[in-house]
Order: sequence, then C-alpha cells, then structure tokens
Amino acid sequence: MIKRIATFCFGILLLAGLCSCSDKQQSTSGNAKLQVVSSFSILSDMVAEIGGDKVAVHNLVPVGMAPHEYEPKPDDIKLASRADALFYNGLNLEGGESGWLMKLVQSVGISSAKIFAVTDGIAPKYIGDRRGAREINPHAFISPKAGMVMAANIKNALISIDKANSAYYEARAQRYVAALQKLDDEYKNKIKSLPEADRVFMASEQAFQYLTSDYGLKEGFIWAIDTDKNGTPEQIKSAINFVQANRPPVLFVESNVDRRPMETISESTGVPIFPDPILSDELGKRGTPGDTYLKYLQYNLDRIYSGLSRK
Ligand SMILES: [Zn+2]
Repeated sequence: MIKRIATFCFGILLLAGLCSCSDKQQSTSGNAKLQVVSSFSILSDMVAEIGGDKVAVHNLVPVGMAPHEYEPKPDDIKLASRADALFYNGLNLEGGESGWLMKLVQSVGISSAKIFAVTDGIAPKYIGDRRGAREINPHAFISPKAGMVMAANIKNALISIDKANSAYYEARAQRYVAALQKLDDEYKNKIKSLPEADRVFMASEQAFQYLTSDYGLKEGFIWAIDTDKNGTPEQIKSAINFVQANRPPVLFVESNVDRRPMETISESTGVPIFPDPILSDELGKRGTPGDTYLKYLQYNLDRIYSGLSRK
C-alpha cells in the first residue's frame, strides 16, 4: 500500500515536472505566443484583437464584477508572475496606487518595463465625491475617442516587447482603429441629429462623463461612482430635480446596478426607463450583444439613439 502511494506521488511529481518544463519552453521559444495579463474584460478584448494570434491573454476581473475592487485568484497570481506584459486601464479604475492591481504587481515583482497603463495620454475627467474631493473618473473607455488612444497605446506596448512582429501589430491596430473611427463618426452624426433639447443622457453612475462630453450630451446621474453608498434619499432627490429640469426622453439603467433607485425616479417624474440595459464597466456576457468592445460601443449607441429619438 505504502509503495503504491509512493509510486502515485512520484507520478504526480513527474507530471508536475513535465508541466513546468513545457511552460518554460513555451515562454522562451521564438514562436511561442506572448503571455499577457490584462485587468478587465474590455481591455482584454482590445489586447486580443490587436495582438491576434501572437498573444495569449489572461483576463483578471471576470464579466459580472466591477473592476474597481478585486481579489486575484491563485491562477491570476501564477500567470502574472511569469507574464511578458501586464495591461491595465489606469485612471484609478483598478483602485490606483494602493489598489488591487498595484498590490498584485508588488506581490509578484513584475518589472515596470512590462506594465502598461493604456489610458496614457487621455486627459482625466473628475467626479466629486460627497466630501467635495475631486476623484479621477476611470471610465474613459465608454467613449470610442478614448478607445482609439487606448488601441494605439496597446499597439505600441506590444511592439516594445515584441519588435519582431511590429508589422503584424501595426496592421491589426490600423484596422481596429479604423473600426473605432467609424463608430466615432456614427456617434457624432447620430447624436447631432437629435433635437438639442433631447440630447440628455441619464444613467445611475456618473460613468458616462467622457462619452457625454465628447459627443455633446448633457449627463445626469444618481451617484458619482459605484463604490459609493448608492441611491441615498439626497441622491434620489437631486436626480429627480435634474430629470424635471432637463426632461430626458428616457432614463438608462446599467447592466450591473440595482434598478430600484432609477425606478423611483421614473415613477416620480413620469419619464420611462429604456427597456434594454446600457453597458458601462464590462462587456456583455459571451454570446450576448456587446460581447466585444466594438460591439459594446455599437450596442450602447443603438440604445442611446433609439431612446433619445423616441424610436
Ligand atoms: Zn464603474
């Protein structure tokens, strides 16, 4: 019996040895894919699109969870410790200097040359918290204009760690940015075609600030950021005041928030809630509309246009 257990254990050790050996071969061989770790669904999709079959992307925060707070799993830590590159949003999306992502970076000791904040070059916008302090609004990616900057940063980062495939990344990024440019034009033209009085976008979180300011919409919201205590009586009251003063054609509710605060506002103002959820911090689940970043932008534009044009 003891002998059998010993043989079994040896078998496991041998297997483990084989696994770590083949991992090593993968990361040092010239033809192996770049091993990339990326912080949340939207970014992981962009890196996969631009990196094509030269990169393998491991996504950290899964769809269904907000990226502001996260507890990395053992697998995340293992993959981050041997990643060729780590991509994150920045603009405090992952909690900033003392947030979960920087803790992960410190714990695995990944070199700073392999870490890329993809929002570099985007001018931050600020939300006021209830103490009156200014906080950076992390949600730039909701606007395709920011998406174009992010795509260029991702391409440059991939080239900096894998020069041999520069032309490949350049070509893929060019096609990707062209698709974003098309969406940017469509956002501009469709929103411009709405009557000025109807260019009012109201959702639960003040996440749409970059989008609304890029395309000339007036933004209403109930709370500043999802990590706040949400839907307090004062927040509801000031949101009702906004809706009464600006009369948006519809109200939007994000896929990842409690609908009840907006329902209260809808009941007391008579402004209906748009039937489909709007997407903010995450892609749609795989197989649903909005399950890639390009589809996510199109999905939101179609709902915004349909709601605000009362079609
Ligand atoms: Zn958020």
